[in-house]
Amino acid sequence: MIFLKSENVSYQNIKTLHNIELTVKKGEKLALIGHSGSGKSTLLKLIYERYSDNTALVPQDYGLVNHLSVYHNVYMGQLNQNSTWYNIVNLVRPWQKPLERISIILSQLQLEDYLFRPVGQLSGGQKQRVAVARSLFQGGNLLLADEPVSSVDEKQSQVVLRQLCNHFSTVVLAMHDTQLALAFCDRIIGLEKGKIVLDQPSHKLASQDLLALYAE
Ligand code: ADP
Ligand code: MG
Repeated sequence: MIFLKSENVSYQNIKTLHNIELTVKKGEKLALIGHSGSGKSTLLKLIYERYSDNTALVPQDYGLVNHLSVYHNVYMGQLNQNSTWYNIVNLVRPWQKPLERISIILSQLQLEDYLFRPVGQLSGGQKQRVAVARSLFQGGNLLLADEPVSSVDEKQSQVVLRQLCNHFSTVVLAMHDTQLALAFCDRIIGLEKGKIVLDQPSHKLASQDLLALYAE
């Protein structure tokens, strides 16, 4: 599914990822953990560059258009799966089918009251769930999500991660919460200064082990 061999990434001649070797099998659920600046987002972007076909992405900054409604932002998840005329019709005056599908996804994420609300009027946690809803509407074989629950509360984090993990068979999440990473992912990759320093099945790890990766 994902096969990276001796991959290096630099920003302005500063090496950010060093000699990354990573194989992910179909059906695996992976969490990337590590300090801020350790390279999680860069690694997710690298995977997305190599494997963008049939891949849904939840970027760290959500990638939403603030002056457009929740419906329109979520609909954009399927823009490239439909013809131009179908998209134009459904962006101007939505048909029942996408409207129903999007409404169901929104209600699963407790966003049902915001269907035609401009995204710019939502809270940070609500915006983050709109980005999650867009990925669910898009669908695909692989989900790459960059800290998808960083702005939502504990209870909603569980709901969001359950939705994502049920909907996509292969999942790579950058996570800041080690307990949630252990609960929802079956494999943990630890990053430190752009290198993979840990690669273990979750059942062999305790939250305590993972906290060490965050220690200064
Ligand atoms: P994380 O997601 O784990 O916080 P990032 O992948 O965002 O880490 O960043 C890894 C390193 O690369 C950091 O030192 C960061 O400053 C640097 N970096 C990330 N994006 C850019 C960029 N667009 N230009 C220059 N440096 C960057
Ligand atoms: Mg990041």
